[in-house]
Amino acid sequence: MGKKYKIIYDRDNCIGAAACVAVNPEYWVLKEDGKASIVTNKKPEIKKINGIIEEVIIDEKDLKANIEAANVCPVRVIKIIDLETGKEVAPQ
Ligand code: SF4
Repeated sequence: MGKKYKIIYDRDNCIGAAACVAVNPEYWVLKEDGKASIVTNKKPEIKKINGIIEEVIIDEKDLKANIEAANVCPVRVIKIIDLETGKEVAPQ
């Protein structure tokens, strides 16, 4: 089994810059309210969505593209945690 990571997305503080969507449209979509959301229809492992914080567990294969999304977000509201070490791997 590969490594797992958790995306913790502070949706409340998203400013709708859509940079995350531009670099990783497979995971990020801009919603009608002008804020991004994690694309839910393809991701059955989503754990929690309450309109303010969205969290999802991802595999290593999806890590790189999501690190990129985290790094381009101007307000740094996308964080990625390595579930093995508990360390934050993005934004860098
Ligand atoms: S890059 Fe950041 S601020 Fe812009 S839409 Fe994505 S999460 Fe929101």
